Amino acid sequence: MGKVIVIANQKGGVGKTTTSVNLSACMADAGKKVLLIDCDPQGNSTSGLGIEKDDVELSVYDVLINDVDIESALVETKYKKLSVCPSNINLAGAEVELATLEFSVRRELLLKTALEKIKDKFDFIIIDCPPSLGFLTINSLVAADSILVPIQCEYYALEGLSQLTKTIKTIKNTYNPDLYLEGVLLTMFDGRTNLSVQVAEEVKKFFPGKVFKSVIPRNVRLSEAPSFGEPIIAYDKYSKGAESYRDLAKEVIKNNKKK
Ligand code: ATP
Ligand code: MG
Repeated sequence: MGKVIVIANQKGGVGKTTTSVNLSACMADAGKKVLLIDCDPQGNSTSGLGIEKDDVELSVYDVLINDVDIESALVETKYKKLSVCPSNINLAGAEVELATLEFSVRRELLLKTALEKIKDKFDFIIIDCPPSLGFLTINSLVAADSILVPIQCEYYALEGLSQLTKTIKTIKNTYNPDLYLEGVLLTMFDGRTNLSVQVAEEVKKFFPGKVFKSVIPRNVRLSEAPSFGEPIIAYDKYSKGAESYRDLAKEVIKNNKKK
């Protein structure tokens, strides 16, 4: 059975998409069969892997709203062992449509149900979430085995985390009792600044034992790669960014072997 990891934090711009794209690509490069599900209407995970988001025929929207079989919505990337379930701006409508669905429809379970059919075809399924705690994120949390929370080493890094923790508790108490924290990832870390070091310490205090050893540095190559539609290991495989996401992939794979 494939392991489903959701990358979530309702705070914007903390590195969810960068982590989704690069963790997926590095795990595929390490020989795992990986599916990245782009649950964000911004479609940045889709374009980040070189798929033209306006050309996609079937997307996460069709899977959730039009009951399209998820298998027909999957797109192979040019990278070995890495597929995507793409999204684009159409998915923005899903948030409203899900909110207005009749209560008879189990609208929190749509993604989970869709994934059941394909879970055994992959080693890892990674879900990139939008910066909100709406129905798309809830569907993702319900469908997931674990959650990976990226935290940007900046001012207000911990802001909103209690809200996220509350949402996770609610999901555990209702639809997904087995959901657990895969780990917290420090992103955009700059070891030259006291701020980054302080934030890292605070995060470790807030999530004792749950912070990944791998830390993602602030690295300009990571921010350039998406405009070329490439993960960092294709764009600049010797960069610090590539090295750090390769380490993270190893750490996640190793943690999942232990279980
Ligand atoms: P959103 O909440 O809008 O979905 P996000 O959490 O997915 O955002 P990203 O899109 O991954 O965040 O990152 C936000 C911006 O920061 C992007 O421009 C990205 O290229 C840049 N960025 C992410 N990680 C790094 C890094 N380690 N070093 C430098 N730039 C980074
Ligand atoms: Mg994003």
